[in-house]
Formats: sequence, C-alpha cells, structure tokens
Amino acid sequence: MRQILRNCLQGKLLNRAEALNLVGAQGDERQALLATAAQLRDGYKGRIVTFSPKVFVPLTNLCRDFCGYCTFRKAPDEAGAKTLTLEEVLRVVRQGKLLGCTEVLFSLGDKPEAIYPEMKSFLNERGHQRTLDYLYEACRVVLEETGLLPHSNPGVMGQGDLQRLRDVNPSMGLMLESVSERLLLAAEDAVGEIVGTVQVVLNQPENQPHRGDIAKLLVHRRVRRQGLGAALIAAAERSALKAGKTLLVLDTVTGGDAERLYARQGWQRCGQIPNYALWPNGTPCATTIFFKFLHN
Ligand code: SF4
Repeated sequence: MRQILRNCLQGKLLNRAEALNLVGAQGDERQALLATAAQLRDGYKGRIVTFSPKVFVPLTNLCRDFCGYCTFRKAPDEAGAKTLTLEEVLRVVRQGKLLGCTEVLFSLGDKPEAIYPEMKSFLNERGHQRTLDYLYEACRVVLEETGLLPHSNPGVMGQGDLQRLRDVNPSMGLMLESVSERLLLAAEDAVGEIVGTVQVVLNQPENQPHRGDIAKLLVHRRVRRQGLGAALIAAAERSALKAGKTLLVLDTVTGGDAERLYARQGWQRCGQIPNYALWPNGTPCATTIFFKFLHN
C-alpha cells in the first residue's frame, strides 16, 4: 500500500487493482491514505471551497419521459403533480432571498406538453406553446423582480433554446442521460422482467445523417405471438424519428417470422443477399433487406 501511495504522490495514475487495494485500508494504512489524499488536494486544488446558496424551484414535475430511477416526475393525475404559476415561483424565490439565497435552481421535466393535454392548456392559457418558453418567462421575471440569478436545469435542449436561455441564465444544466449512438428499447412484463428488446443504431456515415439501422429485435419465447415485436418496432420508429431520422434500414433472416412482421408493419422489402450471415452452427443463411421512411 505504501508504494501505491508514493506512486500517487509522484503523479502516477492508479490501476483498478491498486484502487481496490486502497478501498480496504484500515488503521495506520488508512491514516496514510488520508494524509496522501490531503497532500494531493493541497497540491492540485487548494483548500478553498466555494458554494452559492440556491433556492429550489420545481417549475413542473410533469415530464414526457419515464426514466426508471426518477423520483421527481409525476403524471397530472398523481398526488403531488404540480406546475407552478409565476406568482408561486416569485413567492418561493422571495422566501429564498430572505434566507440569503443568491441563485434560483429551476428544475423541471422534459417537454411534458408533448404527452399531457393538461400541460398544453396550462401553457396556452399563459400564451405559450412550450414549457421551455414558459421557463424563459419565469427566469426573466425572477431576474427582473428579485435580482436572484436563475440556473435552469430542464430536459434535453437544442442549440437555439440554449442560446436563448443564456439571456436570463448566468449558468445552466442539461439532463444528459446517455451519449450512446445506439438506442436500446426494452419491454418488461408485469413483474418487471425484460421480455423483449430492440436497438436503433443512430451513428451513420457523414453523408447519411438522416438514416438509422434497426438491430437485434429480440422477443422472449414465452411472449411471442402477442404483438410485442410489432410494439417494439413501432417504439423504435418513434424514437428514431424523435432523434431526427427519416429513413430506417434493417436486415433479417430470409423466410423467418420477423420477415413477415416487418412486411405487416409497412416496411418495404428491397432485396435478398444469399450467404449474408451465419447461423449459430456456422452454416450460411440468406438475408432480406428492408427499409421504411418515417413521417410525423
Ligand atoms: S427526464 Fe428527468 S424528470 Fe423526466 S423522468 Fe427522466 S429523470 Fe425524471
């Protein structure tokens, strides 16, 4: 352990085994570990810790997404579902100011108006189409009427909204769940076991940014012939469209069940390639290529 700590002080990066070794440090070794950590902190970061007291404003906890781990989101008919009016926002912020806060953390779900008519009406009654526009107004009002600095943390935003919100936000956060270029959609049964998956490959050559590939449609044997394959494909198409794709391509074993499924789902067959892939036993099999254009 001492040698590992000496290496750290000399700037050597830990490997996995060394890091795990440090986790188990006890007694004198733990004291040596803490002393080394303190020495590195003083050398690289210094001893000043800064923070800004923030008041938390959950502008709306409605959200179009359903992240499994999320404890924030609510559906409109759930207890605790709430979208704050501007008066309510100002009331919370003024209380925060009295307590010494200097920033306002706006937290909110991702584009709830996309799936909830209740949110659409709330926005329309206030002259807005989108939650991001309402957020802009809330930030502006807070800035003008209280002087506290807004920090917004909405869902995914495009360049235009990021740029616009800069007018009324000295800093912002973005909810980035993944940077993978491959979307994985999974279907669960009633007890939460995964019974089907499909993937959408978004990363394509530079001259085909509008295209995506469907890959690995898998449906568990015990739930086949119940429409799950069709539901997964439809979900994959929606996700691809949402990601800006207008053309999807896939290949599947010629003569297999999936071939009939894709044809029923409106995919167009464009040809067959003999000996394209291998069966698990190593013998070659033919593949049929399908494509589908996506529209809103
Ligand atoms: S996008 Fe954010 S608010 Fe919405 S469900 Fe996911 S974590 Fe929750």
